[in-house]
Amino acid sequence: MTVKTISIQENILNANDSLAAQIRTWLTENRVFAVNMMASPGAGKTSLIERTISGLSGKRRVAIINGDTTAASMDAERAQKVGALAIHVNTGGNCHLEAFMVRSALDALDLSGIDLLIVENVGNLVCPSGWDLGTHRRVLVASIPEGADKPYKYPSMYSGVSAVVINKVDLLPYVPFDMDYFRKGIEALNPNTAIFPLSCTTGEGVNAWLEWLERQMAFYAG
Ligand code: MG
Ligand code: ZN
Repeated sequence: MTVKTISIQENILNANDSLAAQIRTWLTENRVFAVNMMASPGAGKTSLIERTISGLSGKRRVAIINGDTTAASMDAERAQKVGALAIHVNTGGNCHLEAFMVRSALDALDLSGIDLLIVENVGNLVCPSGWDLGTHRRVLVASIPEGADKPYKYPSMYSGVSAVVINKVDLLPYVPFDMDYFRKGIEALNPNTAIFPLSCTTGEGVNAWLEWLERQMAFYAG
């Protein structure tokens, strides 16, 4: 008799994707625009989130789900400090967020009046790309010191993203970074991706990013 093999990985991913689809429908019905923000550690996701919350202050209400591998909740606290509703998800060492974790976080968040939900994924350029979290858009945050070769080295992370933020452009005079090569790498994977070079330190370029978010929110959140 032949042994039957089942693919656990495939079943888990299927379950994740159907839960993600439910989350997306629920967010859309509640007029919340949701972004899955992915990056390597230190690219500046939390700094960008702070800039985003401050930039939308008085116009849009923002909620943050912050995924971290430990109980350290300082990133969620930073978001809360500048005025967002924030929930910290301790993944217990897991190197990416999954839809069920977002689902649990949503149970703890009152999204009435919220226009934008940013899901700050665990800092990791490998596996977060494989997990749909039920958001409307995926955004990748890169940064100048990481180097211009990242789209070529991590093509699955750089594929299927609606926007790429290139943070820390204030370091361009000091760090070698071939912007054209970087842009070409992104465009080869996603011809229609919006690219936002900016600096969360100086604020340069942040408005273009906020305008992009506003256009998405006008569509999803009204
Ligand atoms: Mg962070
Ligand atoms: Zn992972």
